[in-house]
Amino acid sequence: MDAIAEMFKKLTEASGVPGYEGDVRNVIREYLKDITTIETDKIGSIVCRKDGACERPKIMLAGHMDEIGFMVKYITDEGFIKFSALGGWWSHVLLAQKVVVKSRKGDVVGVIGSKPPHILTSEERDKMVKTKDMYIDVGATKGDEVKEMGIQVGDAIIPVAPFEVMNNGKTFMGKAFDDRTGCAMFIGAIQQLAKEEHPNTVYGVGTVQEEVGLRGARTSSWLVEPDVGFALEVGIAGDVPGVEKDQAQEKLGAGPVILFRDGSMIPNLKLRDFVVDTAKEMEIPIQFDLLEGGGTDAGAIHLHKLGVPGLVLSVPTRHIHSHIGIMHREDYENSVKLLVGVIKRLDVNTVAQLTE
Ligand SMILES: [Zn+2]
Repeated sequence: MDAIAEMFKKLTEASGVPGYEGDVRNVIREYLKDITTIETDKIGSIVCRKDGACERPKIMLAGHMDEIGFMVKYITDEGFIKFSALGGWWSHVLLAQKVVVKSRKGDVVGVIGSKPPHILTSEERDKMVKTKDMYIDVGATKGDEVKEMGIQVGDAIIPVAPFEVMNNGKTFMGKAFDDRTGCAMFIGAIQQLAKEEHPNTVYGVGTVQEEVGLRGARTSSWLVEPDVGFALEVGIAGDVPGVEKDQAQEKLGAGPVILFRDGSMIPNLKLRDFVVDTAKEMEIPIQFDLLEGGGTDAGAIHLHKLGVPGLVLSVPTRHIHSHIGIMHREDYENSVKLLVGVIKRLDVNTVAQLTE
């Protein structure tokens, strides 16, 4: 595994459901502590400042640290765990999946229970099982046994999905690319900028609680006071069977994606065109897409104070918001290249023109 794959392994295998992002924060700190000045906001977002030639403009690169997961809601007398979903899950992708409960005595492995087909009625086979009717089986035979394992109500539960480089050597498979890829994007860009000149101050920000309401992006904006904000994200790859071209147009391996809108914002048009022109000039492949459902951190950042010119830059990813996603490392590498090129060009005059 090379340095990039190794970083994705560390970032994606770290556990961090909304409100429990500490492990991810530590990984980011480890990568950036020697080249940035690090602070946190008061709900846990990490803000890593990389000084350039000028204090302003301040450029915020936000990737959210939290992943979708669950929380222990109730332990039954029979020894099963009822759970509460943190973030947007489609219940179809849950049954028979392996999870880990982060208990105070350590990790407890379990599986989301499913009924064997032998005993399903024909009506049950056609029906979607609701999350509220599911449970996690940690192999216990009574409630007390679960409690002895250290599990209590409120414990975080995360999907189990070890990171893997796939057979072609270019695609990565694992959990939580949404949005550890965004964290990897600002880490990669800042590592590169540490070796180059840039006419601004760059803030790599790992935000908390994005999946439950863009919360860390809102609070960390007060710490950064950005002049320009980028949300670094994953996009919905539509290059799989069953997805219509007008539902999701992104393809794996065809470059990073600029979103023309998402559910929470429409980008600053001059910034959008500036990034597109920079990509052309640098001969970096890019794609365009629209996201009608769901917001991003850019939605919170662009509403800070009087408003902040913002844009979403994403890496297309298959099967997001499930246990296992697939992404292409060249899209990631190109996104970092593009970010670095854009940041090197964003001087005080260029940024002033964005809001003229
Ligand atoms: Zn996301």
